[in-house]
Amino acid sequence: MKGRYWLMIVFLMVSAIDANAQSAVWKNKKCAVVLTYDDALDVDIDNALPVLDSLKLKATFYLIGCSEATERRMKDWRKAARHGHELGNHTLFHPCDGAGADRSFVDPDFDLSKYTVNRAVREIKVNNVLLKAIDGKNQRTFCYPCGDRTINGAFYYDQLKNDFVAARGVEDGMPLPGEVDLDNINAYAINGETGEELIAMVNEALQKHSLLVFMFHGVGGGHELNVSLQAHSQLLHYLRAHRKEIWVAPMIEVAQRIAAYQKGSDPLKNRNLNTALYNR
Ligand SMILES: [Zn+2]
Repeated sequence: MKGRYWLMIVFLMVSAIDANAQSAVWKNKKCAVVLTYDDALDVDIDNALPVLDSLKLKATFYLIGCSEATERRMKDWRKAARHGHELGNHTLFHPCDGAGADRSFVDPDFDLSKYTVNRAVREIKVNNVLLKAIDGKNQRTFCYPCGDRTINGAFYYDQLKNDFVAARGVEDGMPLPGEVDLDNINAYAINGETGEELIAMVNEALQKHSLLVFMFHGVGGGHELNVSLQAHSQLLHYLRAHRKEIWVAPMIEVAQRIAAYQKGSDPLKNRNLNTALYNR
């Protein structure tokens, strides 16, 4: 009985220490929120960036190399990167898998199902060169066009793990630090949600102490997947007002901390684990 009692105490202590280690990943806040904007749209610069910058929130913009707005707004992207936003890689031509009934929108010239892995990898590497020419950075994260990860069953990102810190996917989920799949990070596709609904998602992440990634396309227009200016602004103001509890950062920063935690090389985590051993 006594032995069981001590076992319970040790279990509770280790659980508490583990919870501490997890919140250390989120910079000792309750959860992490990443704001991502896909497809290199004019509205990123015209509608999203002014709100982000006025509230001192940093985000990730996933740029497609061939997008008109990548070329036309190059100075603006460069300025965004200088202000601490991440320019992520969303490939050179946004190839999606054209096989399947709902994929009539896929350009036959850039149909991922007709690519070789080598072609996909080479194009993505060229997009990294282009992004480096804009922001001067050597490290960034990747984002799968349409969430498609395979070419004839092969995971093409397997050939790119040394080129990126992590890759963002398109599947819903609010994982804890140890549960995050850095090769396919969960994200919520936003389309038509109200400000209240977006804030409810943040509150769920706060409660779960998890990661929450928003995936935006249009902001106040600019894409068929859209969030209204009002809902977007409401969400950002909420994040700013709760900055003591919520860590908001570009994907690269959040992914770097998760990677360190998962490898056990996070100094905060090691300190906590050492304490756990000492307490036993
Ligand atoms: Zn896209």
